[in-house]
Amino acid sequence: MAEAFGNYVGGRFLPAASGRAFENRNPADASDLVGRFADSAADDVAAAVAAARQAFPAWKRTPAPKRGEILYRAAEILVRRKEDFARDMTREMGKVLAETRGDVQEAIDMTYYMAGEGRRQFGHTTPSELRDKFQMSVRMPVGVAGLVTPWNFPMAIPSWKAMPALVLGNTVVLKAAPDTPLSSLNLVRVLEEAGLPPGVLNLVTGGAEAGAALVGHPDVAIVSFTGSTATGRKVSETAARAFKHCHLEMGGKNVIMVMEDADLDLAVDGAVWGGFGTSGQRCTAASRVVVHASVYEAFARRFVERAQKLRIGNGLDPATEMGPVINETQLRKTESYVAIGKQEGATLLCGGRRCSEGDLARGCFFEPTVFGAVTPAMRIAREEIFGPVVSLIPVGSLEEAIEVGNATDYGLSASIYTRDISKAFRAMQEMFTGIFYVNAPTIGAETHLPFGGTKGTGNGHREACVQALEVFSEWKSIYVDFSGGLQRAQID
Ligand code: NAD
Repeated sequence: MAEAFGNYVGGRFLPAASGRAFENRNPADASDLVGRFADSAADDVAAAVAAARQAFPAWKRTPAPKRGEILYRAAEILVRRKEDFARDMTREMGKVLAETRGDVQEAIDMTYYMAGEGRRQFGHTTPSELRDKFQMSVRMPVGVAGLVTPWNFPMAIPSWKAMPALVLGNTVVLKAAPDTPLSSLNLVRVLEEAGLPPGVLNLVTGGAEAGAALVGHPDVAIVSFTGSTATGRKVSETAARAFKHCHLEMGGKNVIMVMEDADLDLAVDGAVWGGFGTSGQRCTAASRVVVHASVYEAFARRFVERAQKLRIGNGLDPATEMGPVINETQLRKTESYVAIGKQEGATLLCGGRRCSEGDLARGCFFEPTVFGAVTPAMRIAREEIFGPVVSLIPVGSLEEAIEVGNATDYGLSASIYTRDISKAFRAMQEMFTGIFYVNAPTIGAETHLPFGGTKGTGNGHREACVQALEVFSEWKSIYVDFSGGLQRAQID
């Protein structure tokens, strides 16, 4: 009998008020039931928000360095449990162990980083235009933060949001993705063990119903959402009606540009990792590779060879290079895009089918798939597939590569492979994306630079680094007049 897990509200584990639960199954093996989790509705969300609201005044008054110390202890616990958490994560969402270790490491990095912010959170002091007047700006926490997260980075993304929110003195309700509640629960338990007071961080599990209830709850002052652009639009509209802080990280259709002077082996390595890492299910996945016509055939041949050799299987097996996709819905979506690509006239160079042989038939496995002769107008070149499907697009020049690279509704990540520094700088300047790489694939962000994208990927905010502090705080400008008389700014 699989374990049953409740919501974590006010320091206690509670089942959904309705008694409803949902199953969390291993995408590499549908017979492996990871656990049953509370299927939360509006009343469960309301209980979690009430707990967070109640905990806010005391947490806000806890000195920021003390808040940071709790985060520091949490980071130390994460370091100790990294391997267990990585294994839980691979079991619940499929990506290979090396990648789930990386996911936990990202949570560790972010937790240490934000622990340090307990002693920073710098404001400004600045001279006044008047005598005997002092002025400064300080950050204030905002209140209850509602965090809604996706399944593909199930510990990293909740930590990117929760750690800055907490160190600034906000309290939190996290709505975990329905495919990965265990990894969020592991994170929450770590913070509990590190000494976070009850009610400061609450977890509700469930799907769209719980997410929508959290975003729309009147006592939630900040919404931070990561997920698809379609859901992000709904979240944004709901939050706007109540003037909530609203931070959105959404889809991507990222591009690697391979120039005629590139080191082709390096570019192939990058495109394999960028395109098929996490089975193509990263917001930063390199789902498009734009290749200069003079090296297109050579690149395509080597890339396809490598894609065909990738070892597919259960991510817990150290020999596995690519795990399953997350669920049956994603498998069908990937299949449907393969059909669309063929119909649009692209050339299927390899893959294109679900894996139905041997042990693979028990899970949601899809062959690494490469389309050649893709044109920028095709849907497979414009829409986020979120599976192991890469489109190769031939171009005649750097200018054309940049034009094609920018021609999507998204703007998360882009990269160029070239040995020509002028080409690298030209592309760096012209690509309208939040992240850019030179001679590296579209994935590989670190926690101490801002993370996020333009256009349909984001709404102008950034995650990670000090930029994350902007989402979770308000500024207060303070003027202290010690002149003893009335002084009028702009007049005296
Ligand atoms: P999704 O939009 O289906 O779900 C994201 C979260 O929103 C889940 O927790 C879900 O339960 C919740 N949700 C669903 N409907 C809701 C509603 N109406 N109101 C409030 N919450 C709701 O996305 P997903 O399939 O979990 O994740 C994949 C997507 O996430 C891809 O588009 C990917 O590019 C994107 N993503 C973006 C980033 C980034 O930083 N830009 C990072 C990772 C993933």
